[in-house]
Amino acid sequence: MAYDESNIFAKILRGEIPCDKIYEDDHALAFNDINPQAPTHVLVIPKGAYVSFDDFSRDAPDEEIAGFFRAAGKIARDLGAVDPGYRILANNGPDAHQEVPHFHLHIFAGKNLGRMIKPVDK
Ligand code: 5GP
Repeated sequence: MAYDESNIFAKILRGEIPCDKIYEDDHALAFNDINPQAPTHVLVIPKGAYVSFDDFSRDAPDEEIAGFFRAAGKIARDLGAVDPGYRILANNGPDAHQEVPHFHLHIFAGKNLGRMIKPVDK
């Protein structure tokens, strides 16, 4: 899937639409989700143009991957989320209901987050 430069996170990266920014460095930008699913719900996005985790993990240079994941860990620490805990999540593709085609991590925290995933219907 080709990267779509008109996706909403590309517009945020270019400064064309605002975000509630909480962190930025050379490899990552983090901001609060517009529709939070937990008391803390932060999105962490790479600065490069990657559609999904698949794309990012395959094509991004090692320095960019390391920088991005180190930033995500630091953001969670700076949020005070390490103890009692937090969840990171990346939706990849249609079955995971990925809405925005720019790779992003969700960081959820601030309450007991329950089970990891909805159980399969039997
Ligand atoms: P996905 O389903 O792609 O993993 O998650 C996309 C997330 O982006 C959703 O949680 C949604 O609320 C969030 N989102 C969509 N548009 C915007 C926006 O314009 N600003 C912010 N801050 N979050 C957005």
